[in-house]
Amino acid sequence: MNDPALILIVEDNAGSLELATVALEFYGFAVVGAESAEEAQRVMRSRHPDLILMDIQLPGMDGLQLTRELKADPGTSGIPVIALTAHSMPLHERAARAAGCDGFISKPWTLEALNREVRSFLTGAQETPA
Ligand code: MN
Repeated sequence: MNDPALILIVEDNAGSLELATVALEFYGFAVVGAESAEEAQRVMRSRHPDLILMDIQLPGMDGLQLTRELKADPGTSGIPVIALTAHSMPLHERAARAAGCDGFISKPWTLEALNREVRSFLTGAQETPA
């Protein structure tokens, strides 16, 4: 566990990435951003985030595929992944969970929902070391 906890935000919309970064830094987290799945993979060669906020709709590899790959790798499978998506139908949440996402937040998210969801997973991670 990094101190403060490090959150990787994967989001291709620069405005949304900035907003989520500012919000999570306000709540006391450290944040690193990536605007594509491929950039997230590069970041993770040198950083080990405590949690990942994963936009599902991304150019190139999408967030579901990146999540599948992370969950298939023993080095990263323990990192909680929270899906962020504008598609809030139960079908989309099921697809996210099937890919290995641990949590699901529909857009547009609120500061409170983001903070609450992130904290719920980080507490769990501390209580149950991978
Ligand atoms: Mn997107």
